[in-house]
Amino acid sequence: MSFDKKTLRDIDVKERRVLIRVDFNVPLMDGDVADDTRIVASIPTLNYLIDKKAFLILCSHLGRPKGKPVPELSLEPVARRLGELMNTRVGFAKDSIGPEVKDMVEGLSIGEILLLENTRFHPGETKNDPDFAASLAAPAELFVNDAFGTAHRAHASSEGVAHYLLAVAGFLMEKELTVLGGVLENPDHPFVAILGGAKASDKIGVVTNLLQRADKLIIGGGMANTFLSAKGYAMAESLVESEAIESAAEILRAYDSQIILPTDVVIADDFTPDASHQIVSVDSIPSGWRVMDIGPETGRKFVELVKDAKLIVWNGPMGVFEFDIFAEGTKNLANAVAESAGYSVVGGGDSAAAIRKSGLTDQIDHISTGGGASLEFLAGKTLPGVAALENR
Ligand code: ADP
Ligand code: MG
Repeated sequence: MSFDKKTLRDIDVKERRVLIRVDFNVPLMDGDVADDTRIVASIPTLNYLIDKKAFLILCSHLGRPKGKPVPELSLEPVARRLGELMNTRVGFAKDSIGPEVKDMVEGLSIGEILLLENTRFHPGETKNDPDFAASLAAPAELFVNDAFGTAHRAHASSEGVAHYLLAVAGFLMEKELTVLGGVLENPDHPFVAILGGAKASDKIGVVTNLLQRADKLIIGGGMANTFLSAKGYAMAESLVESEAIESAAEILRAYDSQIILPTDVVIADDFTPDASHQIVSVDSIPSGWRVMDIGPETGRKFVELVKDAKLIVWNGPMGVFEFDIFAEGTKNLANAVAESAGYSVVGGGDSAAAIRKSGLTDQIDHISTGGGASLEFLAGKTLPGVAALENR
């Protein structure tokens, strides 16, 4: 496999102070963790380090505090939840750098965990400021990056620290890169890729890169509107990105036979959960109406393709699934992906949420913890947080 970076297994961590970049950017609600998927995903790496008798110093960002402390974006509730999940005491430092962190690190016993406060409370984090990166690295001897979800950002905690400490991949990082790397390098066929979600412009890079590899590329959701518009259909009030129409048209010219677009759609007269709605063919969208979901005929066609696939990669919902009446297309597809005997990979925050909402998590082979990172990787880009790790 293409994974050519050193991992945890390649280094001796015994009695070493290890800084671990985790992705604890989790949704909070009323001061508590609302979804602990990403915390759970880091546990194999943490357990391994505890087992190998390291000192564990964890860092992460949470939300967008824009370089200053924002109490609502504190990682303290995450420390609590991690403690519950691991059944151990998790210390919490009220800053990510500075003398107090140093003292707390020195006070750690073997196998103990310290979680540092949100790295984005400092402006140096997103600026990848070398001084901030050096301060983050200061109390540690080794760096483990397990935050696949932020690997596409050259930030201090994902890229900068790797210049100050021996840096290797954690198990989650390794798993994500191995699975997604396999999709690009030696996919099983038939390989069916499904893209949806809001914007075509976010995903043009992925579309072209996947078209080199996939047998069929299904396009649904809001991004299909731009492609349908490029085909000449009148999309009325639908979300269409006029600046992406030309790229969409070019892609369609080059790969017409591989691309599957909706033939019928659910349209609404307003963008609300209780809007009037109807099913129409894509060539009959009346003015004043907008596409909110794929139609039933399209849904059946998509499900049929997924059924026979050996490899399925899905990113982006088929419609405005947050509104129940426009969630059918996404739900049916989620069921088909879950039931398919093919290997299934789902990436993207909203797609993963749709899978969870349908209770299908266990039936998907790999749900990526990275939205933007998985898209950039599948688009063929180098992820700075990965590039900074030690080569094997
Ligand atoms: P992911 O997080 O899985 O990568 P995106 O963030 O790209 O997915 O897109 C998810 C969003 O796309 C959802 O909020 C959904 O409501 C929206 N969406 C899907 N279909 C449409 C549509 N036809 N019109 C407008 N928005 C849509
Ligand atoms: Mg999203």
